[in-house]
Amino acid sequence: MSALAVVAAPTHHGARLTVDLAAVAANTRVFAGRTHGALMAVVKADGFGHGAVDVARTALAHGASWLGVTSLEEAFALRDAGLRAPVLSWLNAVDADFSGAIAAAVDVAVPSREHLAAVLRGGQGTRRGTRRGARVHLQLDTGMARDGASPSDWAGLCRAARRAERAGQLHVVGIMGHLGCADDPDDPDNRAGRARFAWGLAVARQAGLRPPLRHLAATSATLTDPLSHHTMSRVGAGLVGIDPSRSTVLSPAMTLTAPVVGVRRVRAGTPVGYGHTWTAPRATTLALLPLGYADGLPRAAGPRAEVLLRGRRHRLVGRVSMDQVVVDVGEDAVVVGETAVVFGPGGSGEPTVAEWAAWADTIEHEIVTGIGSRVVRA
Ligand SMILES: *Cc1c(COP(=O)(O)O)cnc(C)c1O
Repeated sequence: MSALAVVAAPTHHGARLTVDLAAVAANTRVFAGRTHGALMAVVKADGFGHGAVDVARTALAHGASWLGVTSLEEAFALRDAGLRAPVLSWLNAVDADFSGAIAAAVDVAVPSREHLAAVLRGGQGTRRGTRRGARVHLQLDTGMARDGASPSDWAGLCRAARRAERAGQLHVVGIMGHLGCADDPDDPDNRAGRARFAWGLAVARQAGLRPPLRHLAATSATLTDPLSHHTMSRVGAGLVGIDPSRSTVLSPAMTLTAPVVGVRRVRAGTPVGYGHTWTAPRATTLALLPLGYADGLPRAAGPRAEVLLRGRRHRLVGRVSMDQVVVDVGEDAVVVGETAVVFGPGGSGEPTVAEWAAWADTIEHEIVTGIGSRVVRA
């Protein structure tokens, strides 16, 4: 962004996102109290849209001792912000900046022999005598066929990592897996995932590895499946108030508001928005809000979605546009300049992120991580 743009926009009168860090603190304490293991605050995707640095600092002050992210770039951003806690990054291309990871003391997950070789290359070229070697967490696919080594590759990966460790080239500090069905505690695949992880630990041990950290559980398993806890839990969604297992009351942290920028009275029969998908069945008042699908309101939610205006719920009508939506406020005397609450914790009658997710037939994670860049974070 140019300096001119910064100067030219000192204030903003559009959609606004606020994050309640006290809610993040309370959620962190819930998770710290649910496990005897360490707690890793997963702050990928900008802290699930809540601000990675803010969520990280808050979580570290309320019971978390580790930070977790997807990419090395996300990890470096945490370091640049001055965060010194241990950080793990678990999904990177083989040409990622692994020497930068070593220099920034960022741990990396190793899901394959190719990644192991890349991490070892990243450790070369450090000056003799100052060489520290990468800190790695070997990553096993525990049943998702997604990230992590497949079981057939696991023993070979463990042996190769142990050879490198004995040669002083890296430290295997952790073994990690991830459960695909933990949102449903009764799913039998949870037991299978735990069993595969236990098998992976035994194979690593046979290879001579003694990693102090063993981590499998994310939000749902931390809340519902103590057998999955091992020495650490990696919790992301739960810190921002999302519990996919629906087992625990957490505190939603996000509030999205928008000002009313237009009000018009229309006659019965007036079509609204692209495609004229809605026609006023009676004379009514329409309010215009300056946010749309580019700002993270799912277009699919349109026909069901509501916002809170003047303390009452009102429906969106017509299609969600890229930059704007129309609200049918009926006979309420809404005026330009009032603030609509698009979603929030729900305590004042406003819709919640969970409701928006249901309206769009998706999950809360997709709503909170999808808020667009032009929405001002206040
Ligand atoms: C996103 C992610 C987590 C956090 O999962 P939540 O269910 O949001 O707590 C943990 N581990 C891995 C590998 C992930 O990708």
